[in-house]
Amino acid sequence: MFSTAFLDIPALQGASGTVTLPGSKSISNRVLLLSALCQGTTVVHDLLDSDDTRVMLAALRQLGCGVDAEGTTVTITGLGGRAWPAEAIEFFMGNAGTAMRPLTAALAVQGGDFTLKGVPRMHERPIGDLVDALRELGCTIDYLGNEGYPPLRVGQPQLQLDKPIPVRGDVSSQFLTALLMALPLAAQERAITIEVVGELISKPYIEITLNLLARYGIAVERQGWERFVIPAGSRYQSPGSIHVEADASSASYFIALGAMAEGQGIRIQGVGADSIQGDIRFMDAAAQMGAHITSGPNWLEIRRGAWPLKGITLDCNHIPDAAMTLAVMALYADGPTTLRNIASWRVKETDRIAAMAAESRKLGATVEEGPDWITIHPLPAGHWRRASIHTYDDHRVAMCFSLAAFNADQVPVRIEDPKCVAKTFPDYFEALFSVAHTASPHIPVICIDGPTASGKGTLASRVAAQLGYHYLDSGALYRVTAHAALQAGLTLEAVDEAAIAKLARRLPVRFEGEQVLLDNVDVTDAIRSEQGGMNASKVSVLPTVREALIDLQHSFQRLPGLLADGRDMGTVIFPNAPLKVFLTASAAQRAERRHKQLILKGFSANIDNLRADLEARDARDMSRSVAPLLPAQDALQLDNSSLTIEASVEQVMVWWQSRQVFGA
Ligand code: C5P
Repeated sequence: MFSTAFLDIPALQGASGTVTLPGSKSISNRVLLLSALCQGTTVVHDLLDSDDTRVMLAALRQLGCGVDAEGTTVTITGLGGRAWPAEAIEFFMGNAGTAMRPLTAALAVQGGDFTLKGVPRMHERPIGDLVDALRELGCTIDYLGNEGYPPLRVGQPQLQLDKPIPVRGDVSSQFLTALLMALPLAAQERAITIEVVGELISKPYIEITLNLLARYGIAVERQGWERFVIPAGSRYQSPGSIHVEADASSASYFIALGAMAEGQGIRIQGVGADSIQGDIRFMDAAAQMGAHITSGPNWLEIRRGAWPLKGITLDCNHIPDAAMTLAVMALYADGPTTLRNIASWRVKETDRIAAMAAESRKLGATVEEGPDWITIHPLPAGHWRRASIHTYDDHRVAMCFSLAAFNADQVPVRIEDPKCVAKTFPDYFEALFSVAHTASPHIPVICIDGPTASGKGTLASRVAAQLGYHYLDSGALYRVTAHAALQAGLTLEAVDEAAIAKLARRLPVRFEGEQVLLDNVDVTDAIRSEQGGMNASKVSVLPTVREALIDLQHSFQRLPGLLADGRDMGTVIFPNAPLKVFLTASAAQRAERRHKQLILKGFSANIDNLRADLEARDARDMSRSVAPLLPAQDALQLDNSSLTIEASVEQVMVWWQSRQVFGA
């Protein structure tokens, strides 16, 4: 997951390959609650692991449910037939509407002493219609803040089930879903009727609810979209095990990608055209815009069809979440696109109509908006602007605008707070980068070099972490090469140059965080020793060995970018890198740092000897004929003798910002 302050997505040119999508948020949280309400144990497969499901799981644990998680398989032992907790419980619901609404209803129907809170945005999302319905039913619920909004306090109910329970359907279908899932708890003796007031929106989400209720033994009788009857004698029964489909809303980004990007097409694994999720109908809208889509059981394949895409006018009431993706596809169309009947966008994670309009305008687009509609005009070549996309803590805004990186003007796109995608798709950007491609000049490289013990490794890896870039520690490649050569019984001298180069050309090296693996064996400690450094120096003066490592080093230049640390990064390996930093520090300073490092590791060391060694190594490194230690001509010098690591990182970031201009 990218937990950086922002993520710069380079201009993307094409996409192809297969993505496996995480489980559906809507199905995951419903299945969790239903499993908690029934008797017995349910094994849930392919559960989404995200902020919203974590909120639900935490709440279920607080209630005393058995929750046993192993990767994406979670075993829930339900509360059915057991006593509910009598003590006061406070639940923190984050910004998870799919947890807040149904849990409120279930808790209120069951009764207890419960408080439900969330993040500030959750306290701005309306819940009054649900509370009204629950009060009508005899539940005790108080507002702890503003009337009509969380936080809430739930007490003991006095249920009155003899008359139909009215619930408004025109603000959020989650209120009806919440009642449908809570009321079977009270329907042992008599049938319970729910009556929808106003036009029901987002009907497909109600279909998911009914479908899942049926899997748990509750056969709701639906009369049109106005009346829902939960039959007398209803009782939750565990299905034993259940699979969660991949998220159809998440699929929308990759359907769009397949429709927009040149390449062999995109295959989506985990969800097919026969999905029970309403958002799967996004594929029809995408097809209308020009996408070429085929499907089978649990998979979809998408290719570019019409290009540019075709502008459309569409009532999006049936695909409220996925429709946001259409708004970005509209930028690549041949005429304006109008999305209608999307009033619910205004009360989601953020006001999504305002957000999509504001951010599209930053890119240069012309957008009109009304209370429940938005019109986006295409953005022709020559008019795209670099923009820093604000994401409003809304996962979908972040995911949608990543698709702007396919623009004809080849400008990069900055996504602020990229980790907000964790709400439903923590590894979204990784998935995007695994199928998207672009020419290597578009993939930025920052080179950092400097004398031994200048702290370049630490600086480079910190900057990489801040930018969410890959990190190439080229010194480690020479260290590993030397290690492998010695293991193979070779000397590190010119006589064995050809043999060492042969090894280097197919070096089975892998980096996992701080660990370096050679042929799956952890060699981190072995290569990080002083001796390891000396050995690296020896093999690094062999020209054929240097040449043999070039391809491997180039292979680190992957989306979204690279921090490359080492000798010839800016001169030989990535001569066109847009930023090169040459780090220096006095020999005295470096000796002191090295001394500290060694003492920390439990080695004894003498500062004066270390300093003499460093000076000798500098002299050797600078005067050697092969790849001498010299700053690239266009490198910026950074003397960090008296700088903290944070200050050095800050300086590099300032330089980087000045080369990557993002308009507000
Ligand atoms: O950076 P590190 O100390 O791990 O590098 C070990 C040695 O490998 C350096 O002293 C240098 O001689 C050699 N090296 C190189 N070219 C690189 C990186 C390291 O010659 N790109």
